[in-house]
Amino acid sequence: MWKKGWRDEVWAHLEQPWDLLVIGGGITGAGILREASRLGLKALLVEQHDFAWGTSSRSSKLVHGGLRYLGEGKVRLTRASVHEREQLLSEGPGLIDPLGFLQSVRYGDSPGRLTFEMGLTVYDLLALQWDHHYYSADDFQMLAPHISRSGLQGGFRFGDAQTDDARLVLRVIQEAVRDGGVALHYTKAEELVLEKDADAGPDRVVGARLKDCLAEREAEVRARVVVNATGVWADRLRGQVHAQPRIRPLRGSHLIFPAWRLPVAQAVSFLHPIDHRPVMIFPWEGITLVGTTDIDCDAPMDQEPAISPVEVAYLMAAVEFQFPSLNIGLEDIVSTYAGVRPVIGSGKANPSDESREHVIWEEDGLLTVTGGKLTTFRLIAQDVLKAIVHRLPQEIVPKSWADIAELPVLDPLSVGLWDKEGIKEKIASAARLDEPVLLRLSGRYGADAPSLVAAAMPEELDFIPGTKFLWAELHWVARAEGVIHLDDLLFRRVRLGLLLPGGAAALLPRIRPICQPELGWEDDRWEAEEKAYLELWRRCYSLPERARIPDWRQMLAENQAKRLRRQPVRRKITRRSMVAGTLAAAALGFSFILWRRRSRDKGVDLGLTFQRRG
Ligand code: FAD
Repeated sequence: MWKKGWRDEVWAHLEQPWDLLVIGGGITGAGILREASRLGLKALLVEQHDFAWGTSSRSSKLVHGGLRYLGEGKVRLTRASVHEREQLLSEGPGLIDPLGFLQSVRYGDSPGRLTFEMGLTVYDLLALQWDHHYYSADDFQMLAPHISRSGLQGGFRFGDAQTDDARLVLRVIQEAVRDGGVALHYTKAEELVLEKDADAGPDRVVGARLKDCLAEREAEVRARVVVNATGVWADRLRGQVHAQPRIRPLRGSHLIFPAWRLPVAQAVSFLHPIDHRPVMIFPWEGITLVGTTDIDCDAPMDQEPAISPVEVAYLMAAVEFQFPSLNIGLEDIVSTYAGVRPVIGSGKANPSDESREHVIWEEDGLLTVTGGKLTTFRLIAQDVLKAIVHRLPQEIVPKSWADIAELPVLDPLSVGLWDKEGIKEKIASAARLDEPVLLRLSGRYGADAPSLVAAAMPEELDFIPGTKFLWAELHWVARAEGVIHLDDLLFRRVRLGLLLPGGAAALLPRIRPICQPELGWEDDRWEAEEKAYLELWRRCYSLPERARIPDWRQMLAENQAKRLRRQPVRRKITRRSMVAGTLAAAALGFSFILWRRRSRDKGVDLGLTFQRRG
């Protein structure tokens, strides 16, 4: 789809009038482009870096109903999310896959067993299924071996789903482009174009001045509607129409471990011992992820986010608390990553109390959409289209939004996807291309999956050691997926930079002969890209300086001591009641002896006493 020279072609035609200009190439922008193209709108999406470069490649990768929303009483939103999850699971197998969750419950947890039971029952009812079960501590330990037994009351198992977030964005963009949408990366909306309204009202946004981040060129693009889908950066464009900042950027970070070191077959979810926030340890792409944090992010937003030393300690404390017997240390960490949530600030003291719902604002003609989550991208896109429908050409306005809502989220792949000439034979001759691998390829590459196999050299149809990826995927993405820099390829097209130690540095000599010819890079360009990529990995995807990472075991010990100090009343009561109980028992025993003596004197038959006497 993104053949050589495609960017120049798009740039040559940018200055035509558009129905919709979408700024931001994360899942929100991708979903809007997808729905707009489906309706037949002339829609253009621009992204300042790579597609999915922002938060949408740095999430926890869950496609979930959001138990959290239920806890906040947002039943309609949970119902909508659960519905989207079910639809994505059925339409995108191989990209969206079921994931079991184990929610441990420990004595003293709040919320406790009863609250979880009620929540999960509603969760299941909303999905019209019964997919949760409570297990005793013994049974729960069978499901999550190595889990700490300290205070373990038991736990629940329930079903949700997970995805590869960056590939989801790419698939949605690819489908939009197939439907006539245009998507351009490394293109920044520098400045909004404002014009006086016909009725001489305030200036209104009619377009944007775009700058090519790879070449010396600019274009002024005009559109009926300009949508600001720039996530955590949304206030920047809003500032150009004098809107007050509303975004509270919250960083969420993850640690990545090899699965053999921290083995979990399904997600283990629990309340962090220090602040009682829900955290998870879960399998993804053959490794184990631990996340996430939720803290105010005051780092400059132009830099890629990175985990802080305090966040590392917080997540390590979570691992230690739940799996102490595994004795996990910093040396076990393969890599890290951080993302920033575009949350609408309402001044809550605790960042985790802020709402995660999406919002839509129209300010001087600029439509901003931000917040929300990956899972509900289609619903967010439809809300945007409903909000701008009065500004669109009437002939494309849908007769019924209900009909649109029934359309698939992802394009159904043709039944005979793999039956093409030459592909069947290739599949038959490649031992690795069994059904699960084909499903994975079709999920991730959509309609391009057979072309990926067709383009592969026979030896490329083998797994990259220690991963679920084929060498052929590198070949294909370098050829046809608009890779501009090495980090596009290794962090977002295939996720080797996250999954393998050192950002997959050891594999670079094998990756180079496959990708360099397809990318058309000279040797010095490849070398410069390698250097920049490894520097980026070191700065944003590895551990911060170890000396700055607090001692998480000490943090846990101090927390435990604090908890004990915080329960003096209970302890006193316990001690008092023990003393009182002992005194009561002594008094009872004393009365019994007195009463027995008196009874003996009166000649009352007391069973045992008479036996002894006899
Ligand atoms: P982004 O993905 O950030 O996209 C915005 C894009 O706009 C960026 O790529 C940026 O480069 C671009 N941009 C900015 N300014 C300009 C400009 N001037 N011109 C051109 N382009 C510009 N959701 C879930 O459903 N499940 C989860 O498990 C989950 N986990 C999460 C975990 C973490 C740690 C975080 C932080 C979020 C998580 N979310 C999850 C939420 C979800 O990831 C986000 O809501 C979603 O990715 C936001 O997408 P977006 O497109 O709005 O923003």
